[in-house]
Order: sequence, then C-alpha cells, then structure tokens
Amino acid sequence: MPAYRPSTPPPPPPTSARELITAHGGRVTRTRVAVIDVLLGSQHPLSHDEIAAALDGEHIEHDRVTLYRALEWLVEQGIAQRIASGERAWRFEIRRGGEHRHAHFHCERCGQILCLEDVPTPASAPLPPGFAVERAELVLHGACAACGRHAQKGEQ
Ligand SMILES: [Zn+2]
Ligand SMILES: [Zn+2]
Repeated sequence: MPAYRPSTPPPPPPTSARELITAHGGRVTRTRVAVIDVLLGSQHPLSHDEIAAALDGEHIEHDRVTLYRALEWLVEQGIAQRIASGERAWRFEIRRGGEHRHAHFHCERCGQILCLEDVPTPASAPLPPGFAVERAELVLHGACAACGRHAQKGEQ
C-alpha cells in the first residue's frame, strides 16, 4: 500500500498585526501595527486613551490624530470593532472569529468593559418595513464583581 503523505495544513488565519493589515490591502504603518498589537494583547476592549497610554508605555511615538485615523481604518476594514460604553469614549477590540459577535458588560462604577463571549448579539429584530440592520450591539450595564463587592461592604 502506498504511504500517504499528510497534505500540508492550510495556512493559519492571520494573527500578526502585519498579516492582518496586508490581508486587508492596507499600508503597514507603525501606528497601525502598534495599535493592533495592543488590542490583541488585551483581554477587554480599550478606549482611545488606554491605547494611547499603552503606546506611551512602549515608547511608540504617536499623536492623537494618527491614533484616531488608525482606529478608524481598523474599524472600517472590520479588523476592529467599537463598542459604545455609555461614556463619551468608544472602546475598541479586535474582531475575533469572523462574524461571531458577542455582548459586552459595562461596569457603571469602574467604567470597565468586559467581553461576554457566550452571550451572542441578536442578529435579527422585528423592524418596520424598509428598515435594515447594519450593526447590532448589546451592552449590559451594571456593576462588575469587584465593584459589587465594594458596594456591599459599604452598606454594612
Ligand atoms: Zn467595576
Ligand atoms: Zn468583546
């Protein structure tokens, strides 16, 4: 019997910042790469200010406008998505797993946004005729575990 060679596995989905940018036909700039790296390394969505602070921490030169444009581009390309946190600032995260969308939890006390990976965002809703959904977002507002505990202590 002929020995079958295992076929070469398909290339893994792009995981590095450079691969993500070139896969979307974009220009690889230092700010774009740095922003994607910061977002990929974060467990929760980050605000513009938090991203700027992370870039400062790594001594990556940037200014508000460049950072703003880099984030806009990432959102336009569908690489990142933004989440309304109920405050003035948007939070940004890298979209993982293609079309999979999940809900978010906004802690009204510490302002943190957490990903609820197991809670899907409803994809359809009963709409008046002629209306079309382009984007759906589910943000639950309340107190996170840490803030909830503090509040209980304060009441005692
Ligand atoms: Zn909290
Ligand atoms: Zn998320």
